Amino acid sequence: MTNEELSQEQCATWLRLFAAEVERNAPHLTELDSAIGDADHGSNMARGVKAVVSALDTDYPTIAALTKKVGMTLVSTVGGASGPLYGTFFLRFAMAAGEATTLDAQSLGKALVAGAEGIIQRGKASQGDKTMVDVWLPAVDAYATAAEEGLAAAVHAMTVEAEKACKATESMVARKGRASYLGDRSKGHLDPGAVSSALLISALAQAVTTS
Ligand code: ADP
Ligand code: MG
Repeated sequence: MTNEELSQEQCATWLRLFAAEVERNAPHLTELDSAIGDADHGSNMARGVKAVVSALDTDYPTIAALTKKVGMTLVSTVGGASGPLYGTFFLRFAMAAGEATTLDAQSLGKALVAGAEGIIQRGKASQGDKTMVDVWLPAVDAYATAAEEGLAAAVHAMTVEAEKACKATESMVARKGRASYLGDRSKGHLDPGAVSSALLISALAQAVTTS
């Protein structure tokens, strides 16, 4: 397998790497959510990824079947605002993946955009509202710009942009989600969902280059 296509196995690796990163960062995610939310983002996500890893024990015929199961698992286990948002990301990703057994740079890009659009439709947040959308929008744009150079380059560019975009949420004032109740006091803290989204994106880049 060249690194110019994402195989179903690499897709499972992506989710396992994400799960490990969420578990490692759960205290940090909760600490961020305690500053501007209700201190549950780390535990919500840790519960979800644990269920996702269990679901990976089953065989799935396609990437779509696998990611659909991931989406349904996240919706039913994460809870909070982020559960339906991450769930929708994977359900839309699955729909875009269709019958494909591997995803090349272009089809992975389409699936990522479909997922990001799902998050926006579901949560109705715009760029600058200090949510995970502030990572997803610039990240999928960075992917699209680099996609001509191939899949590895595109996911790398996406990861670099996601890190940057995640840091930029610190100075934003929240206009959506629980953090918006704080108004100006939400400034000066990273958005927890932006941080977990950057973890999902960097796990994808790792899966593409390591397996
Ligand atoms: P809750 O806010 O219900 O406790 P979590 O703590 O698990 O849920 O997730 C909080 C994260 O969800 C936020 O940091 C933000 O990134 C994201 N979020 C909340 N509302 C929205 C929304 N309307 N659109 C996009 N993302 C949102
Ligand atoms: Mg919370």
